Amino acid sequence: MQAPIKEIFESIQGEGILAGYKQIFVRFTGCNLNCAFCDTDFLKDEKTLHLKEEELFDKVRRYDAESISLTGGEPLLHHQFIKSFLTKYKKYLKKEIYLETNGTLYNELKEVINLVDVVAMDVKLPSATGDIEHFEDNEKFLNIASSLATFMKVVFDSKIDDDEIDICTILAKKYNIPIVLQPKMPLDNADYFEIYNKFFAQFKDVRLIPQMHKFLNLQ
Ligand code: SF4
Repeated sequence: MQAPIKEIFESIQGEGILAGYKQIFVRFTGCNLNCAFCDTDFLKDEKTLHLKEEELFDKVRRYDAESISLTGGEPLLHHQFIKSFLTKYKKYLKKEIYLETNGTLYNELKEVINLVDVVAMDVKLPSATGDIEHFEDNEKFLNIASSLATFMKVVFDSKIDDDEIDICTILAKKYNIPIVLQPKMPLDNADYFEIYNKFFAQFKDVRLIPQMHKFLNLQ
């Protein structure tokens, strides 16, 4: 089996509850969503690597970071490859597997859930993405993911509304997972403390963490 992989590199995680840790990033091509704020080049091009499981293993084992971020795009579009790769090689890698996902492909998640250690699940707000909401899919996804160390990442700007805040906090409470609020870049005139406090009034396990790698000029 092969998968199209845009890039593989080692860097510092700049988002979420593992911000500041070194990770190996494996960026798969393609996404099933179309967020207006997307800053990731996940399209296939002539530089895209088409790797078999053993070839990916050979590349990631050369790095010394102790955690691998499977990211994209949407990595779960490649769930069959991920399942096959981790089934064959996770025991040899001895590295934590961290899945960065938009939290919509719950059937695909079922295929790999036993092979993943941490799930960073985005909840995409229509006020930020300019797209439709996916809250029902997010809930089905959390129903599976919450058996692992999972957190919810919420990218937002000044247009976030109270209904969106309610939905995020209801889901986080129901599945008992932390929320990481991530200001959309470039920053706008949002009152970040006020927005944080609206979440905090309903749910205490909430952090406000900007995209650290952008401030540090890291990949
Ligand atoms: S889900 Fe992520 S990768 Fe896909 S379009 Fe939205 S921001 Fe970009």
